Amino acid sequence: IAKRQGRNTWQWYRGNGQQVTAEEVLLRHDLYTALRSEQFVLYYQPIVEANSGRVRGYEALIRWYHPERGMISPGVFIPLAEQTGQIIPLGGWVLRRACQDATRLLAESDEPATMAVNISSLQFRRPGFLEEVERALAESGLAPEQLELEVTESILLEGVEHASELIHRLGTLGVRVALDDFGTGFSSLSYLRDLPVYKVKLDRAFIHDIESNPRNAAIVQGVITMAHHMEMVVVAEGIETREQQQDMIRRGCDLLQGFYFARPAPLIDITGRFPGGPKPL
Ligand code: C2E
Ligand code: MG
Ligand code: MG
Ligand code: MG
Repeated sequence: IAKRQGRNTWQWYRGNGQQVTAEEVLLRHDLYTALRSEQFVLYYQPIVEANSGRVRGYEALIRWYHPERGMISPGVFIPLAEQTGQIIPLGGWVLRRACQDATRLLAESDEPATMAVNISSLQFRRPGFLEEVERALAESGLAPEQLELEVTESILLEGVEHASELIHRLGTLGVRVALDDFGTGFSSLSYLRDLPVYKVKLDRAFIHDIESNPRNAAIVQGVITMAHHMEMVVVAEGIETREQQQDMIRRGCDLLQGFYFARPAPLIDITGRFPGGPKPL
Protein backbone atom coordinates (compact mmCIF):
# COMPACT_ATOMS: atom_id res chain seq x y z
CA ILE A 1 0.00 0.00 0.00
CA ALA A 2 2.93 2.29 0.76
CA LYS A 3 4.22 1.70 -2.75
CA ARG A 4 0.85 2.39 -4.19
CA GLN A 5 0.67 5.68 -2.37
CA GLY A 6 4.17 6.51 -3.50
CA ARG A 7 3.14 5.92 -7.06
CA ASN A 8 0.09 8.11 -6.79
CA THR A 9 2.21 10.89 -5.39
CA TRP A 10 4.50 10.47 -8.34
CA GLN A 11 1.64 10.60 -10.80
CA TRP A 12 0.62 13.86 -9.25
CA TYR A 13 4.05 15.35 -9.86
CA ARG A 14 4.02 14.10 -13.41
CA GLY A 15 0.84 15.98 -14.16
CA ASN A 16 2.46 19.06 -12.71
CA GLY A 17 4.40 20.10 -15.79
CA GLN A 18 7.81 19.56 -17.28
CA GLN A 19 9.83 18.54 -14.26
CA VAL A 20 11.36 15.11 -14.58
CA THR A 21 11.24 13.33 -11.25
CA ALA A 22 13.74 10.77 -10.05
CA GLU A 23 10.92 8.24 -10.19
CA GLU A 24 10.41 8.95 -13.83
CA VAL A 25 14.09 8.48 -14.61
CA LEU A 26 14.08 5.16 -12.77
CA LEU A 27 10.95 3.90 -14.50
CA ARG A 28 12.26 4.89 -17.90
CA HIS A 29 15.41 2.97 -17.17
CA ASP A 30 13.44 -0.06 -15.98
CA LEU A 31 11.44 -0.07 -19.21
CA TYR A 32 14.52 -1.17 -21.13
CA THR A 33 14.76 -4.50 -19.35
CA ALA A 34 11.05 -5.02 -18.70
CA LEU A 35 10.21 -6.44 -22.11
CA ARG A 36 13.10 -8.89 -22.07
CA SER A 37 12.30 -10.04 -18.55
CA GLU A 38 8.64 -10.59 -19.48
CA GLN A 39 7.16 -8.11 -17.03
CA PHE A 40 4.32 -7.10 -19.33
CA VAL A 41 0.95 -8.80 -19.42
CA LEU A 42 -2.06 -8.18 -21.58
CA TYR A 43 -5.45 -7.89 -19.95
CA TYR A 44 -8.63 -8.17 -21.96
CA GLN A 45 -11.90 -6.34 -21.47
CA PRO A 46 -15.05 -7.45 -23.29
CA ILE A 47 -17.02 -5.11 -25.52
CA VAL A 48 -20.69 -6.01 -25.67
CA GLU A 49 -23.53 -5.37 -28.05
CA ALA A 50 -25.69 -2.71 -26.39
CA ASN A 51 -29.06 -4.33 -27.04
CA SER A 52 -28.28 -7.97 -26.38
CA GLY A 53 -25.36 -7.72 -23.97
CA ARG A 54 -23.53 -10.31 -26.05
CA VAL A 55 -19.74 -10.15 -26.17
CA ARG A 56 -18.70 -8.89 -29.60
CA GLY A 57 -15.04 -8.38 -28.95
CA TYR A 58 -12.26 -7.56 -26.53
CA GLU A 59 -9.83 -4.71 -26.05
CA ALA A 60 -6.25 -5.60 -25.16
CA LEU A 61 -4.92 -3.43 -22.31
CA ILE A 62 -1.32 -3.69 -21.25
CA ARG A 63 -0.16 -4.03 -17.62
CA TRP A 64 3.35 -3.80 -16.23
CA TYR A 65 4.13 -6.07 -13.30
CA HIS A 66 7.14 -4.21 -11.94
CA PRO A 67 9.30 -6.46 -9.71
CA GLU A 68 9.53 -3.83 -6.95
CA ARG A 69 6.62 -1.50 -7.56
CA GLY A 70 3.88 -3.93 -8.37
CA MET A 71 1.41 -3.25 -11.12
CA ILE A 72 1.90 -0.01 -13.01
CA SER A 73 -0.89 1.31 -15.21
CA PRO A 74 -0.38 2.12 -18.88
CA GLY A 75 -1.50 5.68 -18.26
CA VAL A 76 1.82 6.07 -16.44
CA PHE A 77 4.31 4.10 -18.52
CA ILE A 78 3.01 4.37 -22.09
CA PRO A 79 3.91 8.10 -22.22
CA LEU A 80 7.38 7.24 -20.87
CA ALA A 81 7.79 4.50 -23.46
CA GLU A 82 6.80 7.01 -26.12
CA GLN A 83 9.46 9.44 -24.89
CA THR A 84 12.22 6.84 -24.99
CA GLY A 85 11.16 5.11 -28.20
CA GLN A 86 10.55 1.88 -26.27
CA ILE A 87 6.97 2.05 -27.49
CA ILE A 88 8.12 0.59 -30.81
CA PRO A 89 9.32 -2.82 -29.52
CA LEU A 90 6.65 -2.75 -26.81
CA GLY A 91 3.84 -1.97 -29.26
CA GLY A 92 5.12 -4.71 -31.55
CA TRP A 93 4.97 -7.19 -28.72
CA VAL A 94 1.41 -6.11 -27.82
CA LEU A 95 0.26 -6.55 -31.40
CA ARG A 96 1.78 -10.03 -31.76
CA ARG A 97 0.59 -11.24 -28.37
CA ALA A 98 -2.94 -9.89 -28.80
CA CYS A 99 -3.23 -11.59 -32.20
CA GLN A 100 -2.03 -14.88 -30.73
CA ASP A 101 -4.38 -14.65 -27.76
CA ALA A 102 -7.24 -13.64 -30.05
CA THR A 103 -7.04 -16.91 -31.90
CA ARG A 104 -7.91 -18.61 -28.59
CA LEU A 105 -10.26 -16.00 -27.18
CA LEU A 106 -12.36 -15.60 -30.31
CA ALA A 107 -12.16 -19.14 -31.65
CA GLU A 108 -15.29 -20.56 -30.10
CA SER A 109 -17.38 -17.44 -30.25
CA ASP A 110 -20.62 -18.06 -32.17
CA GLU A 111 -20.80 -14.55 -33.51
CA PRO A 112 -18.22 -12.46 -35.29
CA ALA A 113 -15.99 -10.94 -32.64
CA THR A 114 -12.94 -8.75 -32.82
CA MET A 115 -9.73 -8.09 -30.93
CA ALA A 116 -9.02 -4.38 -30.49
CA VAL A 117 -5.41 -3.30 -30.02
CA ASN A 118 -4.33 0.20 -28.98
CA ILE A 119 -1.71 1.60 -31.32
CA SER A 120 0.48 4.52 -30.30
CA SER A 121 0.62 7.18 -32.98
CA LEU A 122 4.42 6.82 -33.04
CA GLN A 123 3.97 3.19 -33.96
CA PHE A 124 1.23 3.93 -36.47
CA ARG A 125 3.20 6.63 -38.27
CA ARG A 126 6.39 4.61 -38.54
CA PRO A 127 7.30 3.21 -41.97
CA GLY A 128 6.72 -0.51 -42.05
CA PHE A 129 3.74 -0.52 -39.71
CA LEU A 130 1.47 -2.10 -42.30
CA GLU A 131 3.96 -4.91 -42.81
CA GLU A 132 4.16 -5.38 -39.04
CA VAL A 133 0.40 -5.88 -38.93
CA GLU A 134 0.53 -8.32 -41.84
CA ARG A 135 3.26 -10.29 -40.09
CA ALA A 136 1.36 -10.46 -36.79
CA LEU A 137 -1.68 -11.77 -38.64
CA ALA A 138 0.30 -14.31 -40.64
CA GLU A 139 2.20 -15.61 -37.61
CA SER A 140 -0.90 -15.99 -35.46
CA GLY A 141 -3.34 -17.12 -38.12
CA LEU A 142 -5.86 -14.49 -37.00
CA ALA A 143 -8.22 -13.36 -39.74
CA PRO A 144 -7.68 -9.68 -40.63
CA GLU A 145 -11.40 -9.05 -40.09
CA GLN A 146 -10.95 -10.07 -36.47
CA LEU A 147 -8.34 -7.40 -35.79
CA GLU A 148 -9.19 -3.83 -34.97
CA LEU A 149 -6.70 -1.06 -34.34
CA GLU A 150 -7.55 1.76 -31.93
CA VAL A 151 -5.84 5.04 -32.73
CA THR A 152 -6.26 8.57 -31.48
CA GLU A 153 -6.28 11.81 -33.39
CA SER A 154 -2.54 12.26 -32.76
CA ILE A 155 -1.96 10.04 -35.82
CA LEU A 156 -2.77 13.22 -37.72
CA LEU A 157 0.51 14.84 -36.78
CA GLU A 158 1.91 13.89 -40.15
CA GLY A 159 -1.11 15.13 -41.98
CA VAL A 160 -4.51 13.84 -42.78
CA GLU A 161 -3.52 12.38 -46.17
CA HIS A 162 -0.88 10.12 -44.70
CA ALA A 163 -3.18 8.87 -41.95
CA SER A 164 -6.13 8.36 -44.29
CA GLU A 165 -4.07 6.44 -46.77
CA LEU A 166 -2.72 4.10 -44.13
CA ILE A 167 -6.20 3.49 -42.72
CA HIS A 168 -7.37 2.81 -46.24
CA ARG A 169 -4.56 0.34 -46.90
CA LEU A 170 -5.26 -1.44 -43.64
CA GLY A 171 -8.89 -1.63 -44.74
CA THR A 172 -7.78 -3.26 -48.00
CA LEU A 173 -6.10 -5.93 -45.89
CA GLY A 174 -9.37 -6.38 -44.01
CA VAL A 175 -8.20 -4.70 -40.79
CA ARG A 176 -10.46 -1.97 -39.41
CA VAL A 177 -9.49 1.14 -37.53
CA ALA A 178 -11.37 2.79 -34.67
CA LEU A 179 -10.94 6.35 -33.42
CA ASP A 180 -10.34 6.10 -29.65
CA ASP A 181 -11.05 8.67 -26.93
CA PHE A 182 -13.23 10.67 -29.24
CA GLY A 183 -14.24 14.02 -27.85
CA THR A 184 -11.10 14.60 -25.79
CA GLY A 185 -7.86 16.32 -26.69
CA PHE A 186 -8.03 18.36 -29.83
CA SER A 187 -10.29 15.99 -31.69
CA SER A 188 -12.56 17.85 -33.98
CA LEU A 189 -15.45 16.92 -36.18
CA SER A 190 -13.33 17.26 -39.29
CA TYR A 191 -11.42 14.12 -38.25
CA LEU A 192 -14.63 12.15 -38.48
CA ARG A 193 -15.11 13.60 -41.92
CA ASP A 194 -11.56 13.03 -43.16
CA LEU A 195 -10.48 9.73 -41.65
CA PRO A 196 -11.95 6.55 -43.09
CA VAL A 197 -12.45 4.96 -39.68
CA TYR A 198 -15.36 2.61 -39.21
CA LYS A 199 -15.83 3.04 -35.48
CA VAL A 200 -15.79 5.85 -32.93
CA LYS A 201 -15.13 5.27 -29.25
CA LEU A 202 -16.75 7.91 -27.07
CA ASP A 203 -14.43 8.78 -24.23
CA ARG A 204 -15.66 7.94 -20.76
CA ALA A 205 -15.31 11.59 -19.76
CA PHE A 206 -18.67 12.05 -21.52
CA ILE A 207 -20.25 9.00 -19.97
CA HIS A 208 -19.55 9.26 -16.28
CA ASP A 209 -21.94 12.14 -15.58
CA ILE A 210 -24.28 11.67 -18.50
CA GLU A 211 -27.37 11.62 -16.30
CA SER A 212 -26.56 14.87 -14.53
CA ASN A 213 -24.80 16.83 -17.25
CA PRO A 214 -27.13 17.79 -20.09
CA ARG A 215 -24.29 19.18 -22.17
CA ASN A 216 -22.41 15.90 -22.11
CA ALA A 217 -25.62 14.10 -22.92
CA ALA A 218 -26.15 16.40 -25.89
CA ILE A 219 -22.62 15.81 -27.18
CA VAL A 220 -23.02 12.05 -26.83
CA GLN A 221 -26.33 12.11 -28.66
CA GLY A 222 -24.88 14.33 -31.36
CA VAL A 223 -21.87 12.10 -31.95
CA ILE A 224 -24.04 8.97 -32.12
CA THR A 225 -26.43 10.52 -34.62
CA MET A 226 -23.64 11.97 -36.72
CA ALA A 227 -21.58 8.78 -36.71
CA HIS A 228 -24.59 6.74 -37.75
CA HIS A 229 -25.24 9.08 -40.66
CA MET A 230 -21.68 8.36 -41.75
CA GLU A 231 -22.26 4.63 -41.28
CA MET A 232 -19.87 4.36 -38.39
CA VAL A 233 -20.27 2.18 -35.35
CA VAL A 234 -20.30 3.89 -31.95
CA VAL A 235 -18.84 2.43 -28.76
CA ALA A 236 -19.26 3.99 -25.32
CA GLU A 237 -16.37 3.44 -22.90
CA GLY A 238 -16.56 3.51 -19.14
CA ILE A 239 -20.06 2.15 -18.53
CA GLU A 240 -20.15 1.59 -14.79
CA THR A 241 -23.82 1.52 -13.88
CA ARG A 242 -27.09 0.08 -15.08
CA GLU A 243 -28.40 3.61 -15.51
CA GLN A 244 -25.58 4.47 -17.89
CA GLN A 245 -26.14 1.25 -19.77
CA GLN A 246 -29.86 1.98 -20.17
CA ASP A 247 -29.18 5.56 -21.14
CA MET A 248 -26.74 4.55 -23.87
CA ILE A 249 -29.13 1.91 -25.22
CA ARG A 250 -31.83 4.55 -25.39
CA ARG A 251 -29.53 6.86 -27.30
CA GLY A 252 -28.83 4.18 -29.89
CA CYS A 253 -25.20 3.45 -29.04
CA ASP A 254 -24.11 0.22 -30.75
CA LEU A 255 -21.53 -1.23 -28.38
CA LEU A 256 -20.71 -0.77 -24.71
CA GLN A 257 -17.61 -1.33 -22.61
CA GLY A 258 -17.02 -0.81 -18.94
CA PHE A 259 -16.69 -2.13 -15.42
CA TYR A 260 -20.47 -2.69 -15.33
CA PHE A 261 -19.95 -5.64 -17.68
CA ALA A 262 -16.43 -6.71 -16.77
CA ARG A 263 -13.09 -5.34 -15.69
CA PRO A 264 -10.05 -6.04 -17.83
CA ALA A 265 -8.63 -9.45 -16.86
CA PRO A 266 -5.85 -11.81 -17.93
CA LEU A 267 -6.65 -14.34 -20.64
CA ILE A 268 -6.79 -17.24 -18.25
CA ASP A 269 -9.51 -15.61 -16.15
CA ILE A 270 -11.67 -14.81 -19.13
CA THR A 271 -11.46 -18.17 -20.80
CA GLY A 272 -12.66 -19.65 -17.53
CA ARG A 273 -15.33 -17.04 -16.96
CA PHE A 274 -17.48 -17.04 -20.04
CA PRO A 275 -19.60 -20.14 -20.41
CA GLY A 276 -19.40 -21.49 -23.92
CA GLY A 277 -16.19 -19.57 -24.46
CA PRO A 278 -12.83 -21.08 -25.25
CA LYS A 279 -11.48 -23.77 -22.95
CA PRO A 280 -9.00 -22.66 -20.32
CA LEU A 281 -5.41 -23.03 -21.51
P1 C2E B 1 -8.14 3.42 -23.65
O1 C2E B 1 -7.66 2.77 -24.89
O2 C2E B 1 -9.15 4.48 -23.79
O3 C2E B 1 -8.67 2.21 -22.75
C1 C2E B 1 -9.78 2.29 -21.90
C2 C2E B 1 -9.35 2.50 -20.47
O4 C2E B 1 -10.51 2.65 -19.66
C3 C2E B 1 -8.57 1.34 -19.86
O5 C2E B 1 -7.65 1.88 -18.92
C4 C2E B 1 -9.68 0.56 -19.14
O6 C2E B 1 -9.18 -0.27 -18.10
C5 C2E B 1 -10.48 1.70 -18.60
N1 C2E B 1 -11.87 1.35 -18.32
C6 C2E B 1 -12.65 0.43 -18.93
N2 C2E B 1 -13.89 0.42 -18.41
C7 C2E B 1 -13.90 1.35 -17.42
C8 C2E B 1 -14.91 1.79 -16.49
O7 C2E B 1 -16.05 1.35 -16.48
N3 C2E B 1 -14.54 2.77 -15.62
C9 C2E B 1 -13.29 3.30 -15.61
N4 C2E B 1 -13.02 4.24 -14.70
N5 C2E B 1 -12.32 2.90 -16.46
C10 C2E B 1 -12.63 1.94 -17.38
P2 C2E B 1 -6.16 1.34 -18.82
O8 C2E B 1 -6.15 -0.13 -19.06
O9 C2E B 1 -5.56 1.89 -17.60
O10 C2E B 1 -5.47 2.01 -20.09
C11 C2E B 1 -5.34 3.41 -20.16
C12 C2E B 1 -4.89 3.84 -21.52
O11 C2E B 1 -3.55 3.37 -21.78
C13 C2E B 1 -5.72 3.29 -22.66
O12 C2E B 1 -6.91 4.04 -22.81
C14 C2E B 1 -4.75 3.44 -23.82
O13 C2E B 1 -4.75 4.76 -24.30
C15 C2E B 1 -3.43 3.15 -23.15
N6 C2E B 1 -3.07 1.74 -23.40
C16 C2E B 1 -3.46 0.61 -22.75
N7 C2E B 1 -2.89 -0.49 -23.29
C17 C2E B 1 -2.15 -0.05 -24.33
C18 C2E B 1 -1.32 -0.70 -25.30
O14 C2E B 1 -1.19 -1.93 -25.36
N8 C2E B 1 -0.68 0.10 -26.21
C19 C2E B 1 -0.83 1.45 -26.21
N9 C2E B 1 -0.18 2.18 -27.13
N10 C2E B 1 -1.61 2.09 -25.33
C20 C2E B 1 -2.26 1.36 -24.39
MG1 MG C 1 -8.48 1.94 -26.49
MG1 MG D 1 -10.52 5.10 -25.09
MG1 MG E 1 -8.73 6.58 -22.80
